[in-house]
Amino acid sequence: MSDALSTRIVEKRDDLIALTQDLIRIPTLNPPGAHYDTICAFLEKRLSPRFDCTLVRATGTPGDSDRHPRWNIVARVTGTRPGPCIHFNSHTDVVEVGKGWTRDPFGGELDGDKIYGRGACDMKGGLATSIIAVEAFLEQHPDFAGAIEISGTADEESGGYGGVAYLAKMGWFNPERVQHVIIPEPLQKDRICLGHRGGWWAEIETKGEIAHGSMPFLGDCAVRHMGAVLQAFEDTLYPAMAARHTDMPVVPEGARSSTMNINAIHGGQPENPPDYDGLPAHCVPDSCRITIDRRFLIEEPIESVSAEVIALLDNLKSNRANFDYTITELNRVIPSMTDRDAPIVTTVTQAIRDTLGQEPTYVASPGSYDQKHIDRIGKLKNCIAYGPGVLELAHKPDEWIGVTDMLDSARVMGRTLESLLLP
Ligand SMILES: [Zn+2]
Repeated sequence: MSDALSTRIVEKRDDLIALTQDLIRIPTLNPPGAHYDTICAFLEKRLSPRFDCTLVRATGTPGDSDRHPRWNIVARVTGTRPGPCIHFNSHTDVVEVGKGWTRDPFGGELDGDKIYGRGACDMKGGLATSIIAVEAFLEQHPDFAGAIEISGTADEESGGYGGVAYLAKMGWFNPERVQHVIIPEPLQKDRICLGHRGGWWAEIETKGEIAHGSMPFLGDCAVRHMGAVLQAFEDTLYPAMAARHTDMPVVPEGARSSTMNINAIHGGQPENPPDYDGLPAHCVPDSCRITIDRRFLIEEPIESVSAEVIALLDNLKSNRANFDYTITELNRVIPSMTDRDAPIVTTVTQAIRDTLGQEPTYVASPGSYDQKHIDRIGKLKNCIAYGPGVLELAHKPDEWIGVTDMLDSARVMGRTLESLLLP
């Protein structure tokens, strides 16, 4: 790496800290999707001296309203000669705060090498890192080829439909205009994330018949039918899923098999509010519902994932008296995996070697992130997640990002830009 760029990035330490703190202090909670306008205005002010900024509202996407508009920003700077476009994409939303904090979740407190706050690692630290890397590169190398883009996008935490999916639909990730994408999610400064598993979410309802609780034989208990479903999952589905392994380098290791979470279960009367002290009426429940969250491997076709569950339910329907069900798909995400020899992978690999003096580890994510939309809708395959931070801290109380890690990651990003945009 040019030592000059590395030095310039390290000299921006205070700027990097202040920028990360400023971003954390804008409470872009999702849901409901708050303050996207504020953070986009902040980024526009920061970037517009050097970049052409476009604000894009994802009108009509889930959650978009005049109260909580889904605003995104794309900033682009063009070099002096033709060349490829490198795009850094960060989501601007953060998840709810939750319990257990000992720091102000929107304070951006700096303590030693750590900056605390909701979104510190996932992923305002990554966004700040990419901005500092690009700004330093532009100062060091005003005469560069191609273009650099930085986007701040909405709603990643709720599926990305008002963010990257919308931008991809509008052509922003068309391979003709963007050639390399780095998503600075918190995968650690020495790891390259190639992609993610798939997900399939569905609601299953078992049916029954209401009757007096003292004579359940006159009705039909939907909760017992659901018990049979859960038992079939235990006997058949869970062992089958555990026996499947992927070649994707998913971390943590447990996620290299297929998994399924049962998100929620509800049967019978609605629960009473905590301040209600009446007693329940005695009824046989005529409905029981569960939500399943099935994460699947790139080796499993989505059709087989749903068919396996439906076959199990149909088997119960054939063999269990009065068993009836409905199943409703809630959402599906197809796995995504970038080739190990894709240009962005080999370039960042070399940048990690040059900058950090070590071999990168290649990983894949157990859950999905916005790469799916860039891949499926944008048809752009040359995309990775690479950024500072510890993945396990995401969504936890006292989330933090390390300043040294951000600087190291920014140096890797800077080196990557030099490799791709300088002669
Ligand atoms: Zn994230």
